[in-house]
Amino acid sequence: MANACFIRVRGIVQGVGFRPFVYRLAYANELSGWVLNGDQGVEIYLEGEDEDMDAFVHEMRSAPPTAANISDVEIEPASCEGLTDFTIRESHHSERPTVRVSPDLPVCHDCLKECFDPDNPRYRYPYINCTNCGPRYSVVLALPYDRVNTTVRAWPLDAYCDIEYHDPANRRFHAQPVVCPACGPGFTLRDDDAEIANGWTAIERTVKLLCEGKIVAIKGLGGYHLACDARNPASNMALRERKFRKEKPFAIMAKDIEAACQLVSLTPDAEALLTSLARPIVLAPARIELEGVAPENRDLGVMLPYTPLQHLLFAAGAPDALVMTSANRSSEPIAYDDADAVERLSGIADAFLIGERPIARRVDDSIARAGAFGPVILRRSRGYAPGAAARLPIERPLLALGADLKNTITLVVDGQAFVSQHIGDLSHYQAFQAFAETIKDLISMYDIRTDDLLLVHDGHPQYLSTGHAAALPVHERHSVQHHRAHLASVLAERGEWQRSVVGVICDGTGFGDDGSIWGGEIFLGSLEGGFERAAHLRPAALPGGDGAAQYPVQAASGFLAQLETLPNLTRSPFHFGSRYQDAMKLIQHGVRTFSTTSMGRLFDAAAALLGFVRESTFEGQAAIWLEQLARNAPNSDAYSFTHDGRELDFRPLLQAVVWDRIRNRPEPEIARSFQRGIATGMADLVAHLCHSASVDTVVLSGGVFQNELLLEDLRSLLLPHRLDIWTNHAVPPNDGGISLGQAALAAFGQFNEVDQSTTDGEAYA
Ligand code: ZN
Ligand code: FE
Repeated sequence: MANACFIRVRGIVQGVGFRPFVYRLAYANELSGWVLNGDQGVEIYLEGEDEDMDAFVHEMRSAPPTAANISDVEIEPASCEGLTDFTIRESHHSERPTVRVSPDLPVCHDCLKECFDPDNPRYRYPYINCTNCGPRYSVVLALPYDRVNTTVRAWPLDAYCDIEYHDPANRRFHAQPVVCPACGPGFTLRDDDAEIANGWTAIERTVKLLCEGKIVAIKGLGGYHLACDARNPASNMALRERKFRKEKPFAIMAKDIEAACQLVSLTPDAEALLTSLARPIVLAPARIELEGVAPENRDLGVMLPYTPLQHLLFAAGAPDALVMTSANRSSEPIAYDDADAVERLSGIADAFLIGERPIARRVDDSIARAGAFGPVILRRSRGYAPGAAARLPIERPLLALGADLKNTITLVVDGQAFVSQHIGDLSHYQAFQAFAETIKDLISMYDIRTDDLLLVHDGHPQYLSTGHAAALPVHERHSVQHHRAHLASVLAERGEWQRSVVGVICDGTGFGDDGSIWGGEIFLGSLEGGFERAAHLRPAALPGGDGAAQYPVQAASGFLAQLETLPNLTRSPFHFGSRYQDAMKLIQHGVRTFSTTSMGRLFDAAAALLGFVRESTFEGQAAIWLEQLARNAPNSDAYSFTHDGRELDFRPLLQAVVWDRIRNRPEPEIARSFQRGIATGMADLVAHLCHSASVDTVVLSGGVFQNELLLEDLRSLLLPHRLDIWTNHAVPPNDGGISLGQAALAAFGQFNEVDQSTTDGEAYA
């Protein structure tokens, strides 16, 4: 007598070949029943012998399809209907679609083999894909994930694709974006005026242009890239000039892992990241200098090809290291719409390689690094988004709007926190538009009614995201404090709601409880109980407010104004210019001067004293420069960075930098002693706070902790104290992780409304 059961599988289980996998598994175990894509995941009904059902569940859990990620399996006994075969049923919609959309996947080995097989109908076809690989989030228009809800719906399947699509034994069984050259989208190479070539010829001509040193805009999964030969300095310089991008590093796509190893030194962890399914850009120490690619930077950002088109370009003879940078002007968001790309990029790209399959939404390449405490995601986008980054104990839908820089948003549906792709700097009009679109996009994808949505945003009164929050039609909105959100992001990732921690948040900027600019904060508490500010950096004046971030000498002025003796910094060896003198005047007269505890600005001050007196052309540039300078030093002595248990005093630290510089101590050694000093002072204060509060866990987050040398120092200095040290892994330690932290605080009702009547809005203009 046969038995029956009903199984519900949650996690990333749609669009990753899960139903055909279940189908084959059911047949292998001689089970009858059915499988379908439900709104909450995959639903399975099985009939057969108990031991066969056990074997089925065991195999499903232990060897699911590569891209699947099972978070939860629920099994209930059911009554036997007496079915005689196993079938795949149509998707049904009943409840809210909380099933997860899979992130985009790199082309799989089997598809690549077919793509390079002259006898295969999809020979050299850049849109080849199957249930194990290909586009997902970047082609999904709505849920559930079915072909009619993707951007290939305009191309009906022909007989050949249709047979594969409906054959349960086939790799393309219900592969939603499946197409072939006979029925699917084509691609062309064109310049500003006209089409140059199509099909394989377009690829060959593109390669020829790249080899000649030309810049080609190439349509990728989630947007356009601007590509050129990374070994050609003239092309790199031309790209910088046309893009108005002075110094910010370009990412490189290496032909394969061997080519990547020639460019950068890869540890086993870094190699694992590089070849992981997300295929991020991985930052690693450069082995060769490529002029114009990453000026004055010891690291290179390298990724491997992930679309069939990219593999085809390399196979056709493209240079084995291509600059592949987001197609945009300056720091605008990446172009993804064809007409918009041609318009915005004319004058930058010499030609355009355009595929016809539309991109549903902009998804940039992700950036990651194998860090001192494990993998770090610095920009979370393609390959990761919109994966759930955490589970939170809240049933009602919740939307967190993030910060204004490196913006992401987080939507929590049925306790799953979906973090959006990287949106960027909201002060750029197009990024702000993308922000508004992404909110609408996620809300409609998950079918959320805005009237029961809990909305949470940053406490900064001048943030554009704060303004947008006020305009959204919801009944309940709250703000949370920026640095508590950084801290909460780490605890949310780990699902640690009760654990009491000492949280060290070293950050560039953020609106504090008192209306001043915070960024060197130490908190004590837990997600459930809230975080109390336990200590902070000694406040300094910041002339020009947040605007000072661009000019290290301006940021330096407020810190230096507190030193007892100060040489004339406009002279050698400092050469501070007029911007410094103007800033000092503002401080003396108390005009447009604000108070800050920002650790990021303290690093800027040290960078300025060590020679970085020019304008910073991208966020974090001076800090990266300082870290790399310090890495060249042999010493590890620490300048004094003292505290009284509540406040860390930067004065002895900066005084030592100033006088050692005058004494001609080599700059790398000074930079090293400065950083070691920061770590030593912080470690001492952290150990003190942990001891007095009987806490054994330390959380490190905030943009300054992108500095790996600082992390390495803290790890070794805290080692004797036997403390657990937690950092971000699923979301970035920078402001890209803020939305998740906001969501976590909101889930526990940890709001922190700022009294905006006491604040001076002009500070942040
Ligand atoms: Zn495939
Ligand atoms: Fe921040």
